[in-house]
Amino acid sequence: MTPPHAPSEAAPAVAPAGWSPASWRDRVAVQQPEWDGLDELRAVTDELESAPPLVIPGETRQLSASLAEVAQGRAFLLQAGDCAESFDSATPESIERRLRVILQMAIVLTHSAGVPVVKLGRIAGQYAKPRSSSHETLDEVSLPSFRGHIVNLPEFETDARRADPRRISQAYQRSATTLNLLRAMTQGGYADLTKVHQWNEAFVAATGVGRRYETLADDIDRALRFMQACGLDTDEVPQLHEATLYSSHEGLILDYEEALTRQDTETGEFFDTAAHSVWIGERTRDLDGAHVEYFSGIANPIGTKVGPTATPAEVVALCDALDPHRVPGRLTLIARMGAELVTERLGPLVEAVAESGHPVIWATDPMHGNTFTAPSGRKTRHFDAIEQEIRGFFEVHHRLGTWPGGIHVELTGDDVTECLGGSEELSDDQLGLRYETMCDPRLNARQSVDLAFRVAELLREQQH
Ligand code: PEP
Ligand code: MN
Repeated sequence: MTPPHAPSEAAPAVAPAGWSPASWRDRVAVQQPEWDGLDELRAVTDELESAPPLVIPGETRQLSASLAEVAQGRAFLLQAGDCAESFDSATPESIERRLRVILQMAIVLTHSAGVPVVKLGRIAGQYAKPRSSSHETLDEVSLPSFRGHIVNLPEFETDARRADPRRISQAYQRSATTLNLLRAMTQGGYADLTKVHQWNEAFVAATGVGRRYETLADDIDRALRFMQACGLDTDEVPQLHEATLYSSHEGLILDYEEALTRQDTETGEFFDTAAHSVWIGERTRDLDGAHVEYFSGIANPIGTKVGPTATPAEVVALCDALDPHRVPGRLTLIARMGAELVTERLGPLVEAVAESGHPVIWATDPMHGNTFTAPSGRKTRHFDAIEQEIRGFFEVHHRLGTWPGGIHVELTGDDVTECLGGSEELSDDQLGLRYETMCDPRLNARQSVDLAFRVAELLREQQH
């Protein structure tokens, strides 16, 4: 399952003139916390500047090479994981369940659609959240908003909401231990194709979707036995025994990303070593802002969210700023339009970008444009709207002859009840049963595997 392509021989990505890991400080940085203790912040970032990188350039370049395949229509991107990771979920059980559902989705997509799948987790560092208001008011008490575990805590209490710089260092530690286990599991036998049955979590297996998955797993077993019967020594084929799950998060807290930026002494390129890939959120993609400045100089493959208000000129200007050398797969545009708007709003953007010659990946985030408050008062999303936005995304690309490069989804491996619908038809009165997210509602493992089957069908249709 390791992508078959070798790292690209592309020329090093040169940062723009005047860029440095700190040059974002001359721009307006929105969505940054008001850290309590600037000396403490300095002490923490100084320490991180000499700490070991979480990922190394060689791995990041492999991801770039795989994403170049996606940009050219030869592979598909699955970017998935938590909305906001919790420090408390850096446990072996939680990491295993999240890895397991991503592997299941990837195998469904690969098997049913016959395309290689690049797996990119919203994991091992997805600790920072942009917020629509800087403060939250309850019973006439106003406190700073919760901004993710790298900043503060969700409890509505003065001390919990303090933006504590020490949490930056804890985020680094949690990312490191999470990545360590992910690397061990994906390279050390857990992702072996002979284990596809074992990835099926009991609460998924008992359902229609679970049985469909079992049939697919039987097929894979048969295919492996067939290869062996033909005389192929499958033990000697590493792609059948290992997987690669890359890490990504929203590169929101620039003090953190800057402190983990390292220059590759061989090529002179700068890498954000906090993750293999980082993306810019919908609220921080201002062309003249600090985030676009920082992202323009790092050599990692990067993404930016694109919402329904984006104009074709704005998106092309973002491509010029973030992908000046027109490198296939360097930039992923993650469209989050909402099911109602996707058909109308996406087409003009895709056309303008194609005309500009930027070889971007188009991915769909069918989550963030489809969030609403249910009558029970809980923030939720309906599985049907999620599916409908993906369908709209595929239709636009089919009409324009462009490649629908991937999906970007919020999920968890647990049996949570946060999104409505799906084959089990989760209803509003069930949302309260296991509503555990710290931020946005996530698909549970059943809904995630179900979604993978539906996307696989769309991909199959796309190829005809
Ligand atoms: C997110 O991905 O969790 C998020 C906040 O998305 P957006 O920037 O698209 O609103
Ligand atoms: Mn979210």
